[in-house]
Amino acid sequence: MSFSSGIKQVLCKTEYECPACRRAELAGFFAFPDRLGANSARLSFPVPEAAERIGGALFAELGITVEHDGKRGALAAADAVRVRDCVNDDDVINECCSKAYLRGAFLGAGSVSNPEREYHLEFGTKSVSEARFLTELLKSCGFRSKTTRRKDKNVVYIKEISQIADLIGYMSGGRAGLQIMSVQVERNLKGNIQRRVNCDSANLSKLAAASAKQIAAIRKIKAARKWSALPEVLRETGDLRLKYPDASIEELGRMSEPEIGKSGVNHRLKRIMAYADLLPNKEGNGK
Ligand SMILES: [Zn+2]
Repeated sequence: MSFSSGIKQVLCKTEYECPACRRAELAGFFAFPDRLGANSARLSFPVPEAAERIGGALFAELGITVEHDGKRGALAAADAVRVRDCVNDDDVINECCSKAYLRGAFLGAGSVSNPEREYHLEFGTKSVSEARFLTELLKSCGFRSKTTRRKDKNVVYIKEISQIADLIGYMSGGRAGLQIMSVQVERNLKGNIQRRVNCDSANLSKLAAASAKQIAAIRKIKAARKWSALPEVLRETGDLRLKYPDASIEELGRMSEPEIGKSGVNHRLKRIMAYADLLPNKEGNGK
């Protein structure tokens, strides 16, 4: 099952907050996209729970029975006319009813991508005026949406994850918004861990490259039989580096006697490398 369907299942369990909410939800469902044609209304439901919910509401509000198989259904012509006449924007009476209206619209025309993949929520509407109405409604409820045209649809969409989570929370009485946020938090967490790993491995390869250069310098001096000419402190640090090629500068400092700081170790290693640079380049294996 898609992420979107999962959210819709949760929406279908949301309780109506006031007696007018059920009709407002129906109004939203039938308005986006406009389903009430001249003589009958073909209905499609995103999840079986929505068929039950909308069917139940139609029966409770207007005594209309919808034949459906969980996915598709149809209203007889006379019933479609009754729905068109009796269920509309005027049913948005209280603030809770706007939630219900948007919920109905989302059940009918909405979808949301899994935030692990992308941040995207949209309503597919038929006409420009539908899209405008929905945009205004969203705005009045505090949501910023954009509009685009795709094939024969006018799409009202939201890309900001916080807005998506808020809107789903708003439509579901707070239940499904958390679901979105937890996926997002997980995604951020994974991103952070990945960045951390990348950063650590970049640091490690930098460390390895530096260590390799230091070791080459030390070997060069030893090969030239000049190692004993170096001050004792440099030899101590150089020998530690040879013995512990993977150690960080701090670790070399801690192993020194007496213990020295990072800058001390760096300074000694630089002096060793400078000394090695003065020696002619010559291959050899001596000590
Ligand atoms: Zn209400």
